[in-house]
Amino acid sequence: MKYISCSNIQNGLRFEYNSIKFCCFMGTDTPEPFYIKKDYYGEKLNWDELLENINIVRKNQKSGIIDPHCKGCFGLTEQEWDDNTKFKWIQIAHWADCNCFCTYCYRYQSDFEKPKKRYKIMPIIKELDRMGLIDYNGELAYSGGEPSCLREFDEITNFFIKKQERLIMVHTNAIKPVKSVLNGLKTDTMSVTVSVDCGDRQKYKEIKRIDAYDKVINTLKKYVKAQGNNKSMVRSKYILIPKVNDNKEDINKWIEETLKIGIQTVILDFEADWLARNSNNIPEYIDDLYEYIVSETKQRGLELQFYGVANQYRTIMGKDLDGIGLHNGE
Ligand code: SF4
Ligand code: SF4
Repeated sequence: MKYISCSNIQNGLRFEYNSIKFCCFMGTDTPEPFYIKKDYYGEKLNWDELLENINIVRKNQKSGIIDPHCKGCFGLTEQEWDDNTKFKWIQIAHWADCNCFCTYCYRYQSDFEKPKKRYKIMPIIKELDRMGLIDYNGELAYSGGEPSCLREFDEITNFFIKKQERLIMVHTNAIKPVKSVLNGLKTDTMSVTVSVDCGDRQKYKEIKRIDAYDKVINTLKKYVKAQGNNKSMVRSKYILIPKVNDNKEDINKWIEETLKIGIQTVILDFEADWLARNSNNIPEYIDDLYEYIVSETKQRGLELQFYGVANQYRTIMGKDLDGIGLHNGE
């Protein structure tokens, strides 16, 4: 049946270090995210109760009532939605530990609430699997802290690889290579995205506040080599940070280095806070850089994708929204 909804309302499940949500986005008219369970720290879950609440939201969408949390969100589309209500788009972001210090990281924002407790995700995943509530023909996306700082990472990843999950999306800073990522890349069902944001050691240090550019490049080379038949699963991301890497010289260096490593797909995003503060007043030179990245990557034979904040930018600026996706990650 055709109606307005979003893939995350239909089949989304996101674990954070203090809550469970439908997604990591927010509509423009809502003061808080779309929670499935607020203040969650690993307690035993009553899935019957949670599913009842989730199904009310899904039913409302079907009858034309847009949830207030979603109003104004670019994720809403009118299309034929099927009645599959299993969790298909699973996001794991239940930890915030990291070995890097990116200036734009959510962990340094004033509203970041330090995780009160750590909890394990594997028992929850196994329970959902036993209950038949996971559709493995979807996506598992990590977007929390750094995978190499999460003890459970290999166990979770190997579980989903065994279940033949259609796509596993890993976001990592690549300072340290991760074993299950090297294995997962061989299967052609894992993508790895690294926000490199620059093309040299000095700029890296400025953005990431750690001298690890060379380590990142070495890990990326290992990941590129580990890929199976699909050679576009390792991706370098450029988060455009005004006043830091907002010039053609930095962009050109990043493109050159990306090509040297053998990466074929790149991703553009914008610093989230900057866009939130400047959405009504985007400087012309930023839009020129956006257009430059679009044309230059195309000319150099790189496939360009856009992440969540870049899609907000594209929506604000009335760009062609071809290739819109709901991904977010560091
Ligand atoms: S419409 Fe937006 S806010 Fe609502 S569930 Fe989808 S992505 Fe999340
Ligand atoms: S790598 Fe990710 S989690 Fe770590 S500091 Fe950077 S943005 Fe934050």
